[in-house]
Amino acid sequence: RAKASAQERICLFEDYMQAEFDDRQELEHDLRLAVERDQFELVYQTQIEVTTLAVHGVEALVRWNHPTRGQISPAAFIPIAEELGVIVELGELILRRACREATTWVKPVKIAVNLSPIQLQAPRIVETVMDVLKETGLDPARLELEITETVVLNDRNGVVHILDDLRALGVTIAIDDFGTGYSSLAVLRDIPFDTIKLDKAFVRDIAVSPEAEALVKLVIDVGMHLGKTVIVEGIETEAQHQSIRRMGGIVTQGFLFARPVAASQLGFLRAS
Ligand code: C2E
Ligand code: MG
Ligand code: MG
Ligand code: MG
Repeated sequence: RAKASAQERICLFEDYMQAEFDDRQELEHDLRLAVERDQFELVYQTQIEVTTLAVHGVEALVRWNHPTRGQISPAAFIPIAEELGVIVELGELILRRACREATTWVKPVKIAVNLSPIQLQAPRIVETVMDVLKETGLDPARLELEITETVVLNDRNGVVHILDDLRALGVTIAIDDFGTGYSSLAVLRDIPFDTIKLDKAFVRDIAVSPEAEALVKLVIDVGMHLGKTVIVEGIETEAQHQSIRRMGGIVTQGFLFARPVAASQLGFLRAS
């Protein structure tokens, strides 16, 4: 095959850029439509208490059923929704759906819902959560809102205020992906919260690396001393499970125990 000349290569590159751009434009357009038409569904991943193996709760995770592209992962479209600002509307849709579905379950387990930083800092977030709770009748104590460390980067005082107001409604706050930000300790000190969710990146090597194990143990100990719930994400193997077990009474969430599935597939939520 003949080598493309420099000029041809530039053209190819421009074509490629144009195609990428068109693709992105299309996705943005589709995403706006999807929010209008509600092409989303929620799957739930079970959280397990590590010593008793009892169900602690479930985390709601959104999936986009795109009419032609199939199912699209939240990692791919949540950032776009954030850039477009539609995350506020989408987030409300997710929250309402999650709370409504949770009221139909026979077992009143906790339900965790992810909040985008943009959603958390949107003007009416506290009213929205209050309205959804009232409308669905969900016991506020069952709702956990997951935020990430990045929310404190901009307006720490504002965020603290919002979280205080949310907790006053009776809901709990989890810090998701804990340890991946640049201010984890400051977050623990400054932010009102109830649960630490240690990011899966820390769990990967715990069964084979004493250093990795020590770090996870440190976070679990800190959480316990602060009287918080600690959830360790990303438990995929029995070896990881066993090393977490040795560290004490905490909660795990990972593929070893459960993949995210439709609520209808979770036996413990159904009347038999
Ligand atoms: P996250 O909130 O940290 O959710 C946990 C993610 O880790 C989920 O991916 C879950 O499927 C995955 N996971 C759970 N256990 C394991 C494991 O053992 N191994 C591995 N490798 N992965 C595991 P998912 O559903 O693709 O969601 C990705 C991210 O997208 C979420 O991370 C969250 O940041 C965001 N997201 C998902 N649903 C929503 C939503 O409703 N609203 C917002 N704002 N963000 C959401
Ligand atoms: Mg989460
Ligand atoms: Mg996480
Ligand atoms: Mg996350």
